[in-house]
Amino acid sequence: MSRGLFINGQWKSGQGAALTSIDPATGQSVWEGATATAADVADAVAAARAAFQNWADGPRDARIEAVRRYKAALDARKDAMAEALSRETGKALWETRAELGSMMAKVDASIAAYDERTGVRESATAFGRAVLRHRPHGVMAVLGPYNFPGHLPNGHIVPALLAGDTVVFKPSEETPWTGELMLEALEAADLPKGVVNLIQGGRQAGQALIEQEIDGLLFTGSGAAGAHFRRVFADRPDVILALELGGNNPLVVWDATDAEAAAALIVQSAFVTTGQRCSCARRLIVPEGHEGEAIIEAVGALSDRLIAGAWNDETEPFMGPLISARAAVAARKAAKALGGKVIREARAIEGLSEAFITPGLIDVSHLETPDEEIFAPVLQVRRAATFDGALALANATRYGLSAGLISDDATLWERFQKRIRAGVANWNRPTTGAAGTAPFGGLGASGNHRPSAYYAADYCAYPVASFEADAIVPTLNEIKGLRP
Ligand code: NAD
Repeated sequence: MSRGLFINGQWKSGQGAALTSIDPATGQSVWEGATATAADVADAVAAARAAFQNWADGPRDARIEAVRRYKAALDARKDAMAEALSRETGKALWETRAELGSMMAKVDASIAAYDERTGVRESATAFGRAVLRHRPHGVMAVLGPYNFPGHLPNGHIVPALLAGDTVVFKPSEETPWTGELMLEALEAADLPKGVVNLIQGGRQAGQALIEQEIDGLLFTGSGAAGAHFRRVFADRPDVILALELGGNNPLVVWDATDAEAAAALIVQSAFVTTGQRCSCARRLIVPEGHEGEAIIEAVGALSDRLIAGAWNDETEPFMGPLISARAAVAARKAAKALGGKVIREARAIEGLSEAFITPGLIDVSHLETPDEEIFAPVLQVRRAATFDGALALANATRYGLSAGLISDDATLWERFQKRIRAGVANWNRPTTGAAGTAPFGGLGASGNHRPSAYYAADYCAYPVASFEADAIVPTLNEIKGLRP
């Protein structure tokens, strides 16, 4: 049973419709609760509003201490939380353990980023000094996705709290349990009441939240929802929007001498987390002819060896199920609708729940396919006659999140990193690799130029530039054209 919503420092039952979280590997319910009504959401925003000024005005050290207590609370719960995340999302335990590690690491990274990106700067002037400070925006709505249900909202919440913002968080309707466990850790950190609040529910609750008088929407999720929010907030320039969206990410392989080594990087890029990472490669671009054929063959052979299974299977799986049976059915349908030549079919797996699918590899060379993200282990293959042709194919997307080049030729990387339009561009590493000390975000339909991770500090506070003099000194002589 759920503990409910967390509003103004209190747990209370949601008054809306029932909400259930399902373990996709077994189809069993792991969490049962209720969604927030519009009145619950209004209460949560009012609590965050009432808590804001004191939290913002208080000493920065108090906020740092608070997020450090949160980190300690996560540490104390990390094993139980990793297990819960695995049950709720189906992800392998090695993945959810790493997710807890990223959540804890976020605290120190965000403290460093706050000082580096948005701290205080001062320089001397003839009259005194010029000072740059940063102030928090106010009440931040945080809407989380299901694929990293802890790490990604955490990446908005921690920098927002450090900056002095207060938060109303709505986890994905697929992962309410993870949201609840995060709030329990935040509760244990003993933040002043109202500083962080939890509501539960799907789009309806999300909609009710953005209709409130919020000061910012920090969103990680699909491109379609991001485009919707851009439209909704078109007339509200006072609300800061940070949109971390999906991609249709290309991976180019060119002059790679070792096909097996290339295949390992491709498989890690496309199929890790069962293809449910925003930075997963969706399109593989290889040279025409036998180099390309060898790569495709090696990817197919390696895909056949990937173990799919439940997080608690005796043999550790490479990948778990998709988030739901519904998502698996949709992914298989989307893969089929591409047309093309099926090299490996994305199909259901006998003996496992309907949420599992095998990795799909589909040759769509010379076909028109929709420029859409298939959020599943489905990799489309294209061939190019020249490296510049491969680059053009790579950039033929309205998205621009991640991209990769696998090649032994440094001059090709030089050209690739100058021409590719993506916020994350990796060389001989999976497209999914990203450092916590770097910004993370995309161009085009992948975001709105407000990258998260290390640069999250930037959207959590606004700059205030001041000229300051300690005393009122006569400045009559500074006025030009004055009658004597
Ligand atoms: P989603 O857009 O369906 O939902 C994300 C959150 O927004 C959920 O909490 C959902 O309830 C809410 N929401 C969705 N539509 C809404 C609406 N119209 N009004 C109010 N609230 C709404 O995303 P998802 O399926 O949970 O997550 C997967 C997507 O997230 C993929 O597209 C993936 O690429 C993207 N993603 C991006 C990043 C990044 O950093 N760029 C990271 C992870 C995932």
